[in-house]
Amino acid sequence: MQIHDKFFVPFLSEDQILAAVKKVADNIAEDFKNETPIFVGVLNGSFMFVSDFLKAYQHPCEVTFVKMSSYEGLTSTGIVETLLDVSENIEGKSVIILEDIIDSGRTLKHLIHMFSNINVKEFKVASLFYKSEVYRGEYPIDYFGIDIPDKFIVGYGLDYNELGRNFREVYQLKQPDMINLVLFGKPGAGKGTQAEFLKEKYNLKHISTGDVFRYNIKNNTDLGLLAKSYIDNGDLVPDEVTIKMLQEEVTKNVAASGFIFDGFPRTTVQAEALDAFLMTKNMKINATIALEANDEVLIQRLLERGKLSGRSDDQDEDKIRNRFDEYNQKTAPLKNYYQEQGKFHSVDGIGAIDDVTARLAKVIETL
Ligand code: AMP
Repeated sequence: MQIHDKFFVPFLSEDQILAAVKKVADNIAEDFKNETPIFVGVLNGSFMFVSDFLKAYQHPCEVTFVKMSSYEGLTSTGIVETLLDVSENIEGKSVIILEDIIDSGRTLKHLIHMFSNINVKEFKVASLFYKSEVYRGEYPIDYFGIDIPDKFIVGYGLDYNELGRNFREVYQLKQPDMINLVLFGKPGAGKGTQAEFLKEKYNLKHISTGDVFRYNIKNNTDLGLLAKSYIDNGDLVPDEVTIKMLQEEVTKNVAASGFIFDGFPRTTVQAEALDAFLMTKNMKINATIALEANDEVLIQRLLERGKLSGRSDDQDEDKIRNRFDEYNQKTAPLKNYYQEQGKFHSVDGIGAIDDVTARLAKVIETL
């Protein structure tokens, strides 16, 4: 289901919610049925909970509301505003806060502060939903319905930018599935050209290790100075340097909806390091797609490209052949590495750019 720009999937059914409401009401009744507590609903989110709660709580009680706000969009802003203060005379009464959800505990802290100046008989907090994983407050939650994981939810009074409060069920934000691709192939196979199209089509972050090195060389950074002699000769830059650089590029872009790795990994050590690193980020490679083309076509392409780009490693046939040797010795074995993981695909890299993109898209869409 779509609300504004986001997609949500079912999380809790009406029955599950009502059972949780009843549990909270029964637990509170155990403790308070012989007195007349005042329930304080926290608007806006709690209005449905308060309503169903009172239907389940059939003992003497009073009800009032306060109104606060700390959410904007999907994240808590950290600033809690009091929009409606406690109006009833609650002095000397047992006060039970009814919250729809407690996550970081910021709103609760504000509420506790609000009641700290009033001389109440007892003060308790009840919340229908409770994210114990992210709760940072000191005050222990006295009653709660369901302990939920740290997911953004809407429905049953809770909104996403004011929509969704009227749903009888609760939905959670659908996390888009991340796609991480390795574009594989010899120099000149068209990895960079195709990555430009694929990154637009699938909203992916393109990381070309060759481009990052060239950028560093142009800007005379330490990394650039270190890599320059290797690149000029058509040799591979040492693994530890390249791996560290790649990890930094991924870390800078962790919010991306996926990556295209172009020119990385180029050795088995790099491939293993990539898998281990992605695992620490709860990510993985979904597919490695090779662009196949024969050496003679590639040499012609690279020499043509060298005339336009000025790349020294593209202008000299000996250096190009050295890059192919490096590829055959160090990079080609990765085909096996990814085949064993069932992730290797190959497409014909010869033909019009659009045709090659279409062949790649056909593979990606099966993932
Ligand atoms: P590319 O633009 O991908 O053809 O890369 C140009 C050059 O950068 C290569 O010939 C290597 O010297 C260096 N390079 C790029 N990626 C890597 C990598 N993964 N490992 C080692 N060296 C690399």
